Amino acid sequence: MKFYITTPIYYVNDIPHIGHSYTTIAADILARWKRLNGFDVYFLTGTDEHGTKIAQAAKEKGKTPQELCDEMSEKFKEAWKLLNITNDDFIRTTEKRQEYTVQTIAQALFDKKLIFKNKYEALYCVGCEKFLAEKDLDENGCCPDHKTKPVLQSEENYFFKLSSFQDELLERITNAAHKQHIEIQPEERRNEIVGKIKLGLEDISISRTAVDWGIHLPFDKEQTAYVWIDALINYITGVGYPDNKEMFEKYWPADVHLMAKDILWFHSVIWPAVLMGAGLATPKKVYSHGFFTLNGSKMSKTLGNVISPQELVEKFGVDAARYLAVSLIPFGPDGDISWTGLTLKYNVDLANNLGNLISRTIKMAEKYFDLKVPQCSPDFELAKKTAKILEDDFTPAINNLYFHKAAQALQNAVTTVNQQIENDAPWKLAKTDPEKLPACIYSYLQAADLIAIHLLAFMPETAEKIWSVCAAQENIEETAKKYFKDKIIPEKGFSVSGAQLQQAQVLFPRIIAEEKK
Ligand SMILES: [Zn+2]
Repeated sequence: MKFYITTPIYYVNDIPHIGHSYTTIAADILARWKRLNGFDVYFLTGTDEHGTKIAQAAKEKGKTPQELCDEMSEKFKEAWKLLNITNDDFIRTTEKRQEYTVQTIAQALFDKKLIFKNKYEALYCVGCEKFLAEKDLDENGCCPDHKTKPVLQSEENYFFKLSSFQDELLERITNAAHKQHIEIQPEERRNEIVGKIKLGLEDISISRTAVDWGIHLPFDKEQTAYVWIDALINYITGVGYPDNKEMFEKYWPADVHLMAKDILWFHSVIWPAVLMGAGLATPKKVYSHGFFTLNGSKMSKTLGNVISPQELVEKFGVDAARYLAVSLIPFGPDGDISWTGLTLKYNVDLANNLGNLISRTIKMAEKYFDLKVPQCSPDFELAKKTAKILEDDFTPAINNLYFHKAAQALQNAVTTVNQQIENDAPWKLAKTDPEKLPACIYSYLQAADLIAIHLLAFMPETAEKIWSVCAAQENIEETAKKYFKDKIIPEKGFSVSGAQLQQAQVLFPRIIAEEKK
C-alpha cells in the first residue's frame, strides 16, 4: 500500500510563516500516521522559484534570481527541520529535473495540439502573477489582494485547451464511482468548483514572453512556462516523471494534495486537465484549508504580524507548536488565532490534562511502588475504554484530515484516565484498601502508553518521552505499528510489571498568557 502526499511548493518571495507551517505540519502528521499504519509513504514538499516577482526582488537586493532562490529555499528547509517534518524529498523548481519534466509535458501537449498560439490582452497583476478579469478587481479598479492597479498586457503566447476537458473534469469530480474520481474537500469548496466549471471553462494562457526567469518552452525558446503550470508539474517530477518509471508507477497518482483555499482551483481543475492532456492519471484527493487571521486581522508582511515557525517553537516547544497549529481551529474553514488562544489551549490540553496525567501517575508509582511498574495481574479495562474512544473518534478523524477532532479525541482519552484517577482516589486507597492499589496504577500506565502511541504522529518526541518514562517495553514505533494492525494490547501490557519507571518530569510547563504586539 502506497500513500503519496504533497504540500504546495511555497513561493520564495516570502519567509516561512504559520500558514506554510500549518499545511506542512498537517501533511507531516498524516504522513507519519500512514507510515504507522503500514503504508509506504512518499511525502513531498519544496519551493516554487520562478517568475517576475522573484526576478524583481532579486534585482532590488542586488542578487541574481538564483542566489535569492538558494537563500530562501534554505529558510524553508530549516523551518521544516525545526518542526520535525519528515518529508522524503524537497523539490525546487529551478532544478534540472523540473525543467526536464516541464518541457516533456509541454511538448506532449503541443504534439497533441492541446497547446496553440494566440494573441492575449488583459489586465495583469504582477503581485498575483496572473491576469485578472474586470470582475475580480475592487471598487478602485485594483487587485483586491495587492491593492495595486493591474497593467494592460498584450502578447502572443501559448494557450492550453482547458475548455476541452470540461465534461470529463465534471464527471471525475462529481462521480464518486469513477475509476479516476477526484475528491475535492471540503464539501462547500467542491460545490463552488463544480459550479464554476459548469459556467464554462475558457482556454488559458500558459506561457509568457516577457518573463525570462522561468522554464523555456521546448518548441519556442522565446517563451517561458507560466509559473503556475511550472509549479503544478513539480508533483510528478518529485516522483520521478518521466525517466524513473518504476518510482512514478509506484507512487502516482497522488493520494492527497494539501493546500490553502486560494490555490484550490489550480489544483482541482487546471492540474487534472493538464494531466489528462498528457495521458496521466489525476490526483485522488485535493484538500484545501482556510486562511488564518491573527486577532481578527489578516496576517501580512506589511502589518508585521506574521507568526514564524521559530516564534511558535520558542514559545511552546516543537511538539506543542505542532499540536497547537492543527488543533486550535478546524482544518478546512477560515479561523482566527491569537497568542492568548494558543497559550490557553497549551495550558488546558497539554500542561493541565496530558502533562498532569503523566506526572501524577509517575508520582504515585514512586510513592507507593518505589518507581516500578506494580506487580499485579494485568488489568486492561481502563486501557480498553481509552482504546475505544481513540478508535471511534481519533482514527476516523485523522483519516479524514479532521486534525482538530483527532486532537480532541486524544484529549477525551486523557480526560477519561484523569477522571478514573479521581474516582479511584489512590491516595485514599493507600489507607483503606492498599491491595487495590497495584492494579490501579498499573492500569493508568497502560492507558498512558496507549495514548502515547496515538500521539506519535502529532507529537513524536513527547510520545517517546511518555513511552520511556512509563517504562513501556519494545520500541514505540514498532509497537504502534503492531497495535494499529491488530488492535491487541500485549499480554503483559506495554509497561511490564517490575520494570523501572523514570522520575516524573514536567512535560509541559505552564505558560502565562500575554498578547504579543
Ligand atoms: Zn494581485
